[in-house]
Amino acid sequence: MGKIKIGLIILAPLVAISLVIAGVISAENPLAGKLIALDAGHGGDEIGAQYPANSGKDAQIYEKDVNLAVVYALKQKLEDPTVGVKVVLTRECDETISSRKSRVDMAIEECKSLYGRKCDVLVSVHHNGSTDPAHDGTMVIYNEKQDIPLAKALLEVLAPLTGNNEGLDHGGYGMTVYGHLVSALTEAYYITNDWEATQYLNGTSAQVCDSKSVLIGERITQEAGALYQGLLNYFSAPPPKPGRK
Ligand SMILES: [Zn+2]
Repeated sequence: MGKIKIGLIILAPLVAISLVIAGVISAENPLAGKLIALDAGHGGDEIGAQYPANSGKDAQIYEKDVNLAVVYALKQKLEDPTVGVKVVLTRECDETISSRKSRVDMAIEECKSLYGRKCDVLVSVHHNGSTDPAHDGTMVIYNEKQDIPLAKALLEVLAPLTGNNEGLDHGGYGMTVYGHLVSALTEAYYITNDWEATQYLNGTSAQVCDSKSVLIGERITQEAGALYQGLLNYFSAPPPKPGRK
């Protein structure tokens, strides 16, 4: 008996350490228990940027679909039991949401009604557009001072995707002025770029909600992975508390 007990005492911490390394248990994951709201930009009648640029109803790609694909890929990663994040969505499918204020209101309400507290952060996922099909680049938009650490953490991991860091932009996009929810709006790349468009179109069709299929390929997975890493980095080094509630 004594030998078995000693064996267990020696082995238990080793087993725990290897489980943490293997990602099987989330005790060490700073994301565990976080409440994250994800907002897929645009939706319904509001299609966002298009590929080819300004092609309207003839477009091969609508930005709203790429945004939704990334949100679902990221949601899946965050909700993995080894990570343990709770995710709420503003746009779940292809609905039109009237204003940015309603997106924030929806996130705040969902976090409160489902989990009884404020969301820790809100990430609004967009992709940029340009009339130049050769142009690509990465930008993150923030609204209030309190959003800068999150915006920086996301930009740092997203910018290598295009190799063209277009920096942080102070948007006035109104995502955070309501309820002082810490948030950032990401533009990981230009969906009007020929190469980016091909990456998206090479994805596999996946039905992510009721009547909606999007294409999920390597590029979507790569972006979701980068966003995951950015959130992990942000929560690993918590920013100083803002001066007001
Ligand atoms: Zn957009």
